[in-house]
Formats: sequence, structure tokens, C-alpha cells
Amino acid sequence: MMNDVLQATQIVIEQALRRLGYGDEMVELLKEPMRLLTVRIPVRMDDGTTRVFTGYRAQHNDAVGPTKGGVRFHPGVTEKEVKALSIWMSLKCGIADLPYGGGKGGIICDPRKMSFRELERLSRGYVRAISQLVGPTKDIPAPDVMTNSQIMAWMMDEYSRIREFDSPGFITGKPIVLGGSKGRETATARGVVIMIHEALRIKGIDIKNARIVIQGFGNAGSYLAKFMHEAGARVIGISDVNGALYNEEGLDIPHLLDRRDSFGNVTNLFPNTIGNEQLLELECDVLVPAAIENQITEANADRIRASIIVEAANGPTTLEATRMITDRGVLLIPDVLASAGGVIVSYFEWVQNNQGYYWDEDEIDHKLRQMMIRGFENVYDIHLTRKIDMRLAAYMAGVRKMAEAVRFRGWV
Ligand code: NAD
Repeated sequence: MMNDVLQATQIVIEQALRRLGYGDEMVELLKEPMRLLTVRIPVRMDDGTTRVFTGYRAQHNDAVGPTKGGVRFHPGVTEKEVKALSIWMSLKCGIADLPYGGGKGGIICDPRKMSFRELERLSRGYVRAISQLVGPTKDIPAPDVMTNSQIMAWMMDEYSRIREFDSPGFITGKPIVLGGSKGRETATARGVVIMIHEALRIKGIDIKNARIVIQGFGNAGSYLAKFMHEAGARVIGISDVNGALYNEEGLDIPHLLDRRDSFGNVTNLFPNTIGNEQLLELECDVLVPAAIENQITEANADRIRASIIVEAANGPTTLEATRMITDRGVLLIPDVLASAGGVIVSYFEWVQNNQGYYWDEDEIDHKLRQMMIRGFENVYDIHLTRKIDMRLAAYMAGVRKMAEAVRFRGWV
């Protein structure tokens, strides 16, 4: 089973580059990040002891511009995962036509078991450890799994202290009062909503009463549930790390949003009707994995009964499963397209920080919509004309500009 996310990404990157007419040198350069920093971060814990955490920052390629991508706090972070995530960020930036390459960071830790102050010390320690390598014109971090605007605020403050000037453009996903952008918190979900509308249109399904299943109730999943509910769709299943809830008539989403905690936990408060595995196999119109990697694999792909899968999470479907569901006529909107809303509004935040002039939410929504639809049309067109699956089409759209930039710079 191909569950190695880095290896799977490298396979598709190579296929995409070959189809674009590039040879071995370009494949060699772009199949790995050009830079990977591993750091050890000592943190004084509340009980007076010191714990040493391992963190990473990967920069895939900066031929197009500075690298950009989130920082993940999770016990399961690995070097390979961070590398794969940095490559996916390049693809997202390419599809959305942003002036960035991809980057990604992660710290092996469990923030659910740390105090507020311990998290602050860890966040600041990470910035001190990577400060040589990052900056508003070099590599710009952002939130990802289990990191949020408070963590971005501490990181921005630490970077500004080191550089001795206020540097809001060092990081995105900040609180609004510190130069955050309107619409950033909901951006990933908004982008996914736009993709769901496009997919439903193609499949001829009305959004009213469309049955939606969402795995994960964190930043991406919970806002998505809210927006789908408001659009008149029926959210029949949601889940988190502890379990899943299901109701064919539609779940009471406002109530669930009210009760969820800041890590996206809610199912533990209710009698669980089903488990996470069953959730993925529910009959529905749209299935949205919005949690973690490798959820749809060759082990369960045959039992998936959705007609559309929109990947809000990074890497939720393996390559073998992609082939299996595509063969069955399921319309797949791949992660590097579907979840690009986050980095698009992060880009808007960085532009606003650089110019010191801030936009209203309507302007953000309008620009986000334009970019997502343009990305979708481009990928869908490649999928139809080249007769290739949507993932490979998205990789072709995503890597093209970077490969051209590498060529113009004379690197390959
Ligand atoms: P989050 O930490 O806010 O929420 C994650 C959710 O997934 C939580 O509800 C958690 O309980 C659940 N979860 C964790 N492990 C699970 C498991 N084994 N089974 C079922 N549910 C599980 O994270 P997020 O920011 O919402 O990110 C979710 C996914 O979306 C990630 O793959 C992330 O990389 C991707 N993504 C997020 C953004 C963003 O802006 N937040 C942007 C692009 C992509």
C-alpha cells in the first residue's frame, strides 16, 4: 500500500513534469525540497523541567518567489511529511498563480497536553531556531493543524524582536489587530465551498438538500459545515479524532459549532452514532476529508459511496485509491486545488502588510472566488483535454510555472 505521502507526491510530480516535456534534471530538482532545516527547541515547562522538542522547516523551491506554508503542531509530524507538505504548497501556489514557492514547518509535540505559556515558549523558541532561514521576502509561515492566530501572534512578535522592527509580513494568519486579514480564518473553508459548488454543477446536483459528509471539525471542517448548512445543504455526518456523528435528516450544525472546543473536538459530548471508518463510507453527494492524511486507501476506496470527493485536508487519498475512485466515475477535487483558499488569503494578508492598506471582506471574498474558479477551470480543462485524472491534472497546472521559472533562471 502506497501510504508514504512523500513518495506518492514524487511519483505524480515526475508524471506531471514528463507530460510537460521536462527531463531528468528538472525531476531531480523538484522532487525534493531544496532546503530542510531540523531544529531542537529547549522549552522550560511549567513544572521547572526542560523538554527538548524537534522541529522542521522545509523550503521546496524559491524560483518563483519566497516560499510560503503553514506550521503544524502534532505528535505525528515527520521529516517526510513536512517535505511532502512543502511540495504540495508549491502546487497550490502554482494553481492559484501566486508569486510564491512552497514551504512548510512542523514541531513534534501535542499542544492538547501543553499549557498556554508552554505553547508560547515553544512557538517563540521555534522562531529563534529558524530565524536565519525565514522572513517576509524569504519564507513566510502560517497556521496549519493545531496552530492558530495566537501562535502566529507570538511568532510574529518574536521575529520582530529579533529583527528589531515590526514585521507583520513575516507570518500570516495573524489576529486582525496585528495585521491579520479579514476572511483569513474562514478562507480554506470558503475555497472548499466554491469547489463544492463547481463540482455539484458538473454533476447536476442541487445544493439544496445535497447530502454532505465532513471528516474533521477543526478550522477547515467546522467552517465548512457552517457554510454548507447556511447554503441549505444537509450535513448528515461529521467527525473528529474521537468519533463521528450521523443523522440522515441533517445534523444540528449551529449546536455542534457552539459546543466544539478550540482543537475541533465535539463528538465526545454526544452519544456517537458511528465511527470514523463508517463515516467515510456513508452514501452521500459530497464527501469532504478535512482531517489528516491517508484516510481513503485501497482498503476502503471500493466502499466509498459519495459521487464527489473534495479534499480539504492535505493528502487524504492515496494514489491507488485515487485510481479506484476515478475509475468508478467519482469526481475528485484534489487537495492542491480544493484547499488553496488558505494560502490565497494568506497571500492577500501579506500583500496588505506590505502596502499597509487593508481591504474589506467583500473584496477578499471576490478576489478569492476569482482565483479559485480560475484554478478550477484550468485543472478541469487539463483533466478533460489530456484525459488524465484530476490529481495529475492539478499537478501539471501546479508545477508548470515553477519549472518555467527554474528554466529562465538557468538552474536546469
Ligand atoms: P485542525 O487542527 O483545526 O482540525 C483537525 C480536525 O481533524 C479536528 O477536528 C480533529 O479532531 C480531527 N482529526 C484529527 N485526527 C483525526 C482522525 N484520525 N480521524 C478523524 N478526525 C481527526 O486542522 P485544520 O486546520 O482544520 O486542518 C485540517 C486539514 O486541512 C489538514 O490536512 C490541513 O493540512 C488542511 N488544511 C488546512 C488549512 C487551514 O487554513 N487551516 C489550509 C489548507 C489545508
